[in-house]
Amino acid sequence: MPAPDYLPERESVIAAVRDLDRKGLVSGSSGNVSIRLPVEGGEERYLITPAGVVYDELDEAGLVVVDEELEPVGAELVPSTESLLHLAIYKARPDVGAVVHTHSLYASIAAVTSTQIPPVVDEMVVYVGGPIEVAEYGFPGTAELAKAGVESLGDRRAVLLRSHGMCAAAPTLQEAMRVAVLVERVAQIYVQAEMMGGALELPDYAVEAERQVYLMRSGLAGSE
Ligand SMILES: [Zn+2]
Repeated sequence: MPAPDYLPERESVIAAVRDLDRKGLVSGSSGNVSIRLPVEGGEERYLITPAGVVYDELDEAGLVVVDEELEPVGAELVPSTESLLHLAIYKARPDVGAVVHTHSLYASIAAVTSTQIPPVVDEMVVYVGGPIEVAEYGFPGTAELAKAGVESLGDRRAVLLRSHGMCAAAPTLQEAMRVAVLVERVAQIYVQAEMMGGALELPDYAVEAERQVYLMRSGLAGSE
C-alpha cells in the first residue's frame, strides 16, 4: 500500500504559511507551522514546515512528515529547526492539533523585553486562556527551549519565547492561526498602551468568568 500523501493536510498548512506571510507575521524562512496527523499504525505523525526554505519557494511537497521521534517519514527535507518545541507541545497537550510559531513584531518586542502580557482585553482570556507568559531563554532548536516553552504555555494557547518570538497552539490549524493573529494584536495594544501611562488589567471577576468560557470551549473544564 502506498504511503498516505496527506494532500489535504499539506494544502491547509501551505495556505496557513502563505496567510502568515501575507499578514506580515513571518518573513523569509522564519517561523514555522505544524499539524498533528491522524494516527498511523498506532503511531503519532506530524506534518511540519521544513528548515530554512523561504516561504515564497515552499510548496506542498516541501512539507515534512515526522514521527514521534522526529524522524522524517519517507525521503524528505529536514524538518524545521523548532520541531522539538512543536513535538513537546503535542506530547504535553493532547487537546492541541496545530502549532504556529512566528517572530511577529510586537510579540517579539514583548519577548525581547521579557514582558508578560497580562489579561488586558476580554478576547485574549476567552481565546488564549489568560495571560501570555514569557518562557525562559532557550537556544533555538534545543530541548531546553522546548521544555521552557511547554512550561510557560501551561494550559493556554499562546506563549512568548524570550529573546525569540511567540508560539500559538490550538485544537485546529484555523484556531492556532487566529490565536497567532490575536497575540500580535494584543501585544501591539499592550506595548503602545504601556507608552501612554500603562494598560489596565481586566477585573478579576471578568478574567475568572472568561477563563471558564475558555476551559469549557477547550474541553479542559474540571482540570483546575
Ligand atoms: Zn523561531
